[in-house]
Amino acid sequence: MEKLVSLAKRRGFVFQSSEIYGGLGSVWDYGPLGVELKRNLIERWWRSVVQEREDIEGMESAILMHPKVWEASGHVASFTDPLVDCRQCKKRFRADDERIKGKPGEESAQCPVCGSKGTLTDPRMFNLMFKTFMGPVEDAAAQVFLRPETAQGSYVNFLNVMQASRQKIPFGIAQVGKAFRNEITPGNFIFRTREFEQMEMQYFVKPGEDEEWFEYWHEERMRWHYDLGINPDKLRYHPHGPDELAHYAKRAEDIQYQFPFGWQEYEGIHNRTDFDLSRHQEYSGKKLQYVDPATKDRFTPYVVETALGVGRLFLVVMADAYREEEVEGTTRVVLGLHPSIAPVKVGIFPLVKKDGMPELARNIYRELQKLFAVFYDDGGSIGRRYRRQDEAGTPFGVTVDGQSMTDSTVTVRDRDTLKQERVSVDQLATYLTERLQP
Ligand code: ATP
Repeated sequence: MEKLVSLAKRRGFVFQSSEIYGGLGSVWDYGPLGVELKRNLIERWWRSVVQEREDIEGMESAILMHPKVWEASGHVASFTDPLVDCRQCKKRFRADDERIKGKPGEESAQCPVCGSKGTLTDPRMFNLMFKTFMGPVEDAAAQVFLRPETAQGSYVNFLNVMQASRQKIPFGIAQVGKAFRNEITPGNFIFRTREFEQMEMQYFVKPGEDEEWFEYWHEERMRWHYDLGINPDKLRYHPHGPDELAHYAKRAEDIQYQFPFGWQEYEGIHNRTDFDLSRHQEYSGKKLQYVDPATKDRFTPYVVETALGVGRLFLVVMADAYREEEVEGTTRVVLGLHPSIAPVKVGIFPLVKKDGMPELARNIYRELQKLFAVFYDDGGSIGRRYRRQDEAGTPFGVTVDGQSMTDSTVTVRDRDTLKQERVSVDQLATYLTERLQP
């Protein structure tokens, strides 16, 4: 894990927020390579969930919503974690923190940081929503929340989207956007952060058909992760037991990845029943129902949700792609990212900075730049330039050498097999495009 964190910083994937001021707890910035990887992940999800389907519409709701939304959704009352303090070392924990020995509040309970006994307070409930104020007066009436999930924006727009897009049930609404949770014990790099991005899809179905659709999305989402090339041995489902279910859920399941720090969730699939739509009907007084055009049956749809964190997926693909290999007596670090999400697709290198090689390499660079993200590098030995791109996860390296100047061919090096092929400059774009297809 330390190696991954250090690579992420060194190569400009992830930086700590406000680092020059000592950082801000569990908030992270994405650097030049990181932002490309993140955008590629979002783009791949959006393409498969929205653009390649007739039954799902995209939308983007605002981060700030009417405060009643969060009363109706149950977040004001129930979006809480049990919190305990150590009176001795002043550290804070979730009461269910596995490192705590004994029951917080009792004499025998032991603080996992300072080791003191009997210093942990009784658990008290702590709401995870960030609050702020709208307008100039900072009183309770002006209080609004930063959303802790994108889902509610899709529920309150259910009728708007359905009518505008002339969808019929079953259909879905997908969103990508920021969410905020004032987590008590964040950590593990970008695994649990206080500001993060979600890719969520709400699928509205007829009550009674919800179980079937749950099964469908269970299969579909795992297939998506396999297609992204994630090692299947490190993926598993974790069904929620009755004590784990969220207040809105009838059935829920996590897709977990075996991170260096253990098996953890990175996508959730939830049967939210008609809980959210019913509550919004009750609190807003507006009908959020569907009339079946064939039978004229009127009902409040059930929702099957798929909820994936962008940052967690980012960590999964980085952890899964990272490897160290012995090549010709030295260790090379490789990020074997799926080509569709690699931040840079092709590195372009003139073997030496003379004899017309830089000019030809620049021309190739300009042509390929029109098709995908490419990187030009003429600094240092060719071996070092290859290694730099291996670490960045770049699938191909194109080298212009002496032979290129006589027969207009270049070598194309494959990041994973290390095989080099000679390809004519005319055919280069086609050759690479074919191999970069998802
Ligand atoms: P956890 O149990 O890890 O707190 P959760 O069950 O509360 O997660 P959901 O509400 O189902 O999570 O959110 C859906 C997805 O959003 C999660 O699978 C995860 O990928 C992402 N997510 C949730 N909370 C965070 C966070 N604090 N930091 C980063 N990603 C998060």
